[in-house]
Amino acid sequence: MATMSDNVLRAITDDGAFRVVTAQTTSTVGGAIRAQGAHGRVAGHFGDLLTGSILFRETMAPQLRVQGILKTPQGSLVADSHPSGDTRGLVQADPPADLDLRGASLRVMRSLPDGRLSQGVVGIPESGGISAALMAYMQTSEQVFSMLAMSTLVDIDHVVAAGGYMVQLLPEADHAPLAVMAKRLKAFEVIDEQLRRPGFSAAALLEELLDGMPFTRLEESEVGFGCWCSHVRVIAALATLSRRDIEDLVSDGEVLEISCDYCGAEYRVAPERLRGLLEES
Ligand SMILES: [Zn+2]
Repeated sequence: MATMSDNVLRAITDDGAFRVVTAQTTSTVGGAIRAQGAHGRVAGHFGDLLTGSILFRETMAPQLRVQGILKTPQGSLVADSHPSGDTRGLVQADPPADLDLRGASLRVMRSLPDGRLSQGVVGIPESGGISAALMAYMQTSEQVFSMLAMSTLVDIDHVVAAGGYMVQLLPEADHAPLAVMAKRLKAFEVIDEQLRRPGFSAAALLEELLDGMPFTRLEESEVGFGCWCSHVRVIAALATLSRRDIEDLVSDGEVLEISCDYCGAEYRVAPERLRGLLEES
Protein backbone atom coordinates (compact mmCIF):
# COMPACT_ATOMS: atom_id res chain seq x y z
CA MET A 1 0.00 0.00 0.00
CA ALA A 2 1.07 3.51 -0.70
CA THR A 3 1.91 6.02 1.93
CA MET A 4 -0.60 8.63 0.91
CA SER A 5 1.14 11.94 1.22
CA ASP A 6 -0.54 13.71 -1.68
CA ASN A 7 -4.10 14.95 -1.80
CA VAL A 8 -6.94 15.97 -4.05
CA LEU A 9 -9.43 18.68 -3.08
CA ARG A 10 -12.89 19.30 -4.50
CA ALA A 11 -14.90 22.46 -4.35
CA ILE A 12 -17.97 23.97 -5.92
CA THR A 13 -18.39 27.66 -6.67
CA ASP A 14 -21.26 29.16 -4.69
CA ASP A 15 -23.03 30.28 -7.89
CA GLY A 16 -23.40 26.54 -8.61
CA ALA A 17 -21.70 26.86 -11.98
CA PHE A 18 -18.38 25.07 -11.51
CA ARG A 19 -16.87 22.02 -9.96
CA VAL A 20 -13.18 22.54 -9.17
CA VAL A 21 -10.68 19.80 -8.38
CA THR A 22 -7.04 20.47 -7.50
CA ALA A 23 -4.31 17.94 -6.84
CA GLN A 24 -0.87 17.87 -5.40
CA THR A 25 0.88 14.77 -6.76
CA THR A 26 4.55 15.44 -6.01
CA SER A 27 5.35 12.23 -4.12
CA THR A 28 3.01 10.09 -6.26
CA VAL A 29 4.74 11.21 -9.44
CA GLY A 30 8.16 11.02 -7.76
CA GLY A 31 7.54 7.40 -6.69
CA ALA A 32 6.34 6.32 -10.13
CA ILE A 33 9.24 8.07 -11.90
CA ARG A 34 11.76 6.38 -9.58
CA ALA A 35 10.14 2.95 -10.02
CA GLN A 36 10.33 3.32 -13.81
CA GLY A 37 13.75 5.01 -13.95
CA ALA A 38 12.26 7.76 -16.13
CA HIS A 39 14.12 11.00 -16.69
CA GLY A 40 14.33 14.00 -18.97
CA ARG A 41 11.30 14.92 -21.03
CA VAL A 42 9.84 11.46 -20.51
CA ALA A 43 9.63 12.06 -16.76
CA GLY A 44 7.76 15.33 -17.36
CA HIS A 45 5.21 13.76 -19.73
CA PHE A 46 4.84 10.73 -17.45
CA GLY A 47 4.18 13.00 -14.46
CA ASP A 48 1.54 14.97 -16.35
CA LEU A 49 -0.14 11.76 -17.49
CA LEU A 50 -0.24 10.42 -13.91
CA THR A 51 -1.68 13.67 -12.55
CA GLY A 52 -4.17 13.87 -15.43
CA SER A 53 -5.42 10.33 -14.76
CA ILE A 54 -5.89 11.17 -11.07
CA LEU A 55 -7.81 14.36 -11.92
CA PHE A 56 -9.97 12.49 -14.44
CA ARG A 57 -10.81 9.72 -11.95
CA GLU A 58 -11.54 12.18 -9.14
CA THR A 59 -13.91 14.26 -11.30
CA MET A 60 -15.54 11.65 -13.53
CA ALA A 61 -15.24 8.25 -11.87
CA PRO A 62 -13.96 8.28 -8.26
CA GLN A 63 -15.05 4.67 -7.71
CA LEU A 64 -13.53 3.30 -10.90
CA ARG A 65 -10.01 2.51 -12.02
CA VAL A 66 -8.78 4.94 -14.65
CA GLN A 67 -5.91 4.41 -17.04
CA GLY A 68 -4.33 7.02 -19.29
CA ILE A 69 -2.19 5.74 -22.14
CA LEU A 70 0.07 7.96 -24.22
CA LYS A 71 1.20 6.33 -27.43
CA THR A 72 3.99 7.92 -29.47
CA PRO A 73 6.12 6.64 -32.34
CA GLN A 74 9.00 6.09 -29.84
CA GLY A 75 7.07 4.28 -27.15
CA SER A 76 4.25 4.51 -24.69
CA LEU A 77 3.49 5.72 -21.20
CA VAL A 78 0.76 4.30 -18.99
CA ALA A 79 -0.78 5.88 -15.89
CA ASP A 80 -3.02 3.71 -13.72
CA SER A 81 -5.09 5.31 -10.96
CA HIS A 82 -6.99 3.08 -8.53
CA PRO A 83 -10.06 4.17 -6.51
CA SER A 84 -8.07 3.47 -3.30
CA GLY A 85 -5.79 6.37 -4.27
CA ASP A 86 -2.93 4.08 -5.23
CA THR A 87 -1.42 5.21 -8.51
CA ARG A 88 1.23 3.51 -10.63
CA GLY A 89 2.56 3.70 -14.16
CA LEU A 90 4.69 2.19 -16.89
CA VAL A 91 7.29 3.76 -19.15
CA GLN A 92 8.19 1.95 -22.35
CA ALA A 93 10.27 4.39 -24.36
CA ASP A 94 13.29 4.08 -26.61
CA PRO A 95 15.44 6.15 -26.18
CA PRO A 96 14.36 6.32 -22.53
CA ALA A 97 14.90 10.06 -21.98
CA ASP A 98 13.12 11.49 -24.96
CA LEU A 99 9.59 11.21 -26.24
CA ASP A 100 8.30 13.36 -29.03
CA LEU A 101 4.61 14.19 -28.74
CA ARG A 102 4.22 14.71 -32.51
CA GLY A 103 2.00 12.01 -33.89
CA ALA A 104 1.09 10.87 -30.38
CA SER A 105 -2.35 9.95 -29.04
CA LEU A 106 -3.97 9.86 -25.62
CA ARG A 107 -6.32 7.04 -24.67
CA VAL A 108 -8.35 7.24 -21.48
CA MET A 109 -10.02 4.11 -20.11
CA ARG A 110 -12.16 3.47 -17.07
CA SER A 111 -13.12 0.03 -15.83
CA LEU A 112 -16.85 -0.17 -15.23
CA PRO A 113 -18.10 -2.21 -12.26
CA ASP A 114 -19.24 -5.05 -14.55
CA GLY A 115 -15.69 -5.37 -15.89
CA ARG A 116 -16.37 -3.64 -19.20
CA LEU A 117 -14.13 -0.80 -20.34
CA SER A 118 -15.32 2.63 -21.36
CA GLN A 119 -12.69 4.36 -23.44
CA GLY A 120 -11.89 7.03 -25.97
CA VAL A 121 -8.89 8.42 -27.77
CA VAL A 122 -7.70 11.84 -28.99
CA GLY A 123 -4.61 13.06 -30.84
CA ILE A 124 -2.14 15.28 -28.99
CA PRO A 125 -2.60 18.89 -30.20
CA GLU A 126 0.40 20.76 -31.62
CA SER A 127 0.81 22.83 -28.50
CA GLY A 128 -0.17 22.43 -24.89
CA GLY A 129 1.01 18.83 -24.51
CA ILE A 130 -0.89 16.32 -22.41
CA SER A 131 -2.93 19.01 -20.63
CA ALA A 132 -4.33 20.24 -23.96
CA ALA A 133 -4.97 16.66 -25.06
CA LEU A 134 -6.92 15.83 -21.90
CA MET A 135 -8.92 19.04 -22.27
CA ALA A 136 -9.82 18.05 -25.84
CA TYR A 137 -10.68 14.56 -24.62
CA MET A 138 -13.07 15.91 -21.98
CA GLN A 139 -14.84 17.95 -24.63
CA THR A 140 -15.09 15.36 -27.40
CA SER A 141 -15.36 12.04 -25.58
CA GLU A 142 -17.07 13.10 -22.35
CA GLN A 143 -18.94 16.17 -23.61
CA VAL A 144 -18.06 18.01 -20.41
CA PHE A 145 -16.68 21.49 -20.85
CA SER A 146 -13.51 21.54 -18.74
CA MET A 147 -10.49 23.71 -18.28
CA LEU A 148 -7.43 22.05 -16.81
CA ALA A 149 -3.67 21.96 -16.58
CA MET A 150 -1.07 19.63 -15.16
CA SER A 151 2.60 20.30 -14.52
CA THR A 152 5.62 18.29 -13.41
CA LEU A 153 8.77 20.09 -12.34
CA VAL A 154 11.77 17.79 -12.57
CA ASP A 155 15.25 18.78 -11.46
CA ILE A 156 17.56 16.14 -13.00
CA ASP A 157 16.02 12.99 -11.43
CA HIS A 158 14.20 14.64 -8.57
CA VAL A 159 10.56 15.73 -8.77
CA VAL A 160 10.41 19.21 -7.27
CA ALA A 161 6.63 19.48 -7.55
CA ALA A 162 3.74 17.98 -9.48
CA GLY A 163 0.07 18.80 -9.57
CA GLY A 164 -2.83 20.10 -11.54
CA TYR A 165 -6.44 21.18 -11.59
CA MET A 166 -9.67 20.64 -13.47
CA VAL A 167 -12.55 23.12 -13.59
CA GLN A 168 -15.83 21.85 -15.02
CA LEU A 169 -18.95 23.68 -16.00
CA LEU A 170 -21.78 21.85 -14.23
CA PRO A 171 -24.45 20.49 -16.58
CA GLU A 172 -27.40 22.35 -15.09
CA ALA A 173 -25.48 25.64 -14.83
CA ASP A 174 -26.19 28.78 -16.72
CA HIS A 175 -23.49 29.50 -19.31
CA ALA A 176 -23.12 33.17 -18.30
CA PRO A 177 -20.28 32.68 -15.74
CA LEU A 178 -18.27 30.71 -18.29
CA ALA A 179 -16.73 33.74 -20.01
CA VAL A 180 -15.62 35.12 -16.63
CA MET A 181 -14.08 31.81 -15.60
CA ALA A 182 -12.39 31.28 -18.99
CA LYS A 183 -10.84 34.74 -18.72
CA ARG A 184 -9.65 34.06 -15.17
CA LEU A 185 -8.11 30.72 -16.12
CA LYS A 186 -6.11 32.25 -18.99
CA ALA A 187 -3.50 32.93 -16.31
CA PHE A 188 -3.51 29.22 -15.37
CA GLU A 189 -3.01 27.61 -18.75
CA VAL A 190 0.52 26.77 -17.58
CA ILE A 191 0.96 26.30 -13.83
CA ASP A 192 4.73 25.84 -13.51
CA GLU A 193 4.95 29.12 -11.63
CA GLN A 194 2.30 28.06 -9.10
CA LEU A 195 4.10 24.76 -8.51
CA ARG A 196 7.44 26.47 -8.03
CA ARG A 197 6.17 28.55 -5.10
CA PRO A 198 7.30 27.42 -1.66
CA GLY A 199 4.47 25.63 0.12
CA PHE A 200 2.69 24.60 -3.06
CA SER A 201 -0.34 22.47 -2.14
CA ALA A 202 -3.73 21.48 -3.53
CA ALA A 203 -5.28 23.99 -1.11
CA ALA A 204 -3.00 26.83 -2.22
CA LEU A 205 -3.78 26.11 -5.87
CA LEU A 206 -7.52 26.07 -5.14
CA GLU A 207 -7.32 29.41 -3.33
CA GLU A 208 -5.39 30.92 -6.18
CA LEU A 209 -7.67 29.62 -8.93
CA LEU A 210 -10.78 30.92 -7.18
CA ASP A 211 -9.29 34.04 -5.62
CA GLY A 212 -12.12 36.38 -4.63
CA MET A 213 -14.80 33.97 -5.86
CA PRO A 214 -17.09 32.46 -3.20
CA PHE A 215 -16.77 28.67 -3.08
CA THR A 216 -17.43 25.75 -0.78
CA ARG A 217 -14.86 23.06 -0.15
CA LEU A 218 -16.18 19.52 -0.45
CA GLU A 219 -14.45 16.24 0.32
CA GLU A 220 -10.74 15.62 0.15
CA SER A 221 -9.05 12.39 -0.88
CA GLU A 222 -5.56 11.07 -0.56
CA VAL A 223 -3.40 9.69 -3.33
CA GLY A 224 0.05 8.16 -3.43
CA PHE A 225 2.39 6.01 -5.45
CA GLY A 226 1.38 2.41 -4.87
CA CYS A 227 0.91 -0.86 -6.69
CA TRP A 228 -1.78 -3.48 -6.16
CA CYS A 229 0.21 -6.42 -7.47
CA SER A 230 0.23 -9.52 -5.23
CA HIS A 231 1.21 -13.16 -5.24
CA VAL A 232 -2.43 -14.09 -5.82
CA ARG A 233 -2.62 -11.83 -8.89
CA VAL A 234 0.60 -13.30 -10.29
CA ILE A 235 -0.86 -16.81 -9.96
CA ALA A 236 -4.12 -15.66 -11.51
CA ALA A 237 -2.20 -14.24 -14.49
CA LEU A 238 -0.24 -17.49 -14.88
CA ALA A 239 -3.51 -19.41 -14.80
CA THR A 240 -4.58 -17.65 -18.00
CA LEU A 241 -1.62 -19.17 -19.91
CA SER A 242 -2.28 -22.14 -22.15
CA ARG A 243 -1.83 -25.61 -20.71
CA ARG A 244 1.13 -26.10 -23.02
CA ASP A 245 2.91 -22.94 -21.81
CA ILE A 246 2.40 -23.95 -18.18
CA GLU A 247 3.76 -27.44 -18.96
CA ASP A 248 6.85 -25.79 -20.48
CA LEU A 249 7.39 -23.77 -17.31
CA VAL A 250 6.93 -26.85 -15.13
CA SER A 251 9.35 -28.92 -17.23
CA ASP A 252 12.16 -26.47 -16.40
CA GLY A 253 11.76 -27.64 -12.81
CA GLU A 254 12.96 -24.27 -11.54
CA VAL A 255 11.39 -21.65 -9.35
CA LEU A 256 9.80 -19.08 -11.61
CA GLU A 257 10.86 -15.53 -10.83
CA ILE A 258 8.53 -12.79 -11.93
CA SER A 259 8.90 -9.10 -11.22
CA CYS A 260 6.13 -6.53 -11.39
CA ASP A 261 6.63 -4.10 -14.28
CA TYR A 262 4.95 -1.30 -12.32
CA CYS A 263 6.75 -1.42 -8.98
CA GLY A 264 9.56 -3.95 -9.35
CA ALA A 265 8.28 -6.29 -6.60
CA GLU A 266 9.67 -9.83 -7.04
CA TYR A 267 7.51 -12.93 -6.90
CA ARG A 268 8.71 -16.52 -6.80
CA VAL A 269 6.48 -19.33 -7.94
CA ALA A 270 7.53 -22.89 -7.08
CA PRO A 271 7.17 -25.67 -9.70
CA GLU A 272 4.68 -27.44 -7.40
CA ARG A 273 2.40 -24.41 -7.55
CA LEU A 274 2.57 -24.45 -11.37
CA ARG A 275 1.75 -28.17 -11.37
CA GLY A 276 -1.19 -27.28 -9.17
CA LEU A 277 -2.46 -24.99 -11.95
CA LEU A 278 -2.37 -27.90 -14.41
CA GLU A 279 -4.44 -30.01 -12.03
CA GLU A 280 -6.97 -27.20 -11.55
CA SER A 281 -7.40 -26.62 -15.30
ZN1 LIG B 1 3.63 -4.10 -8.43
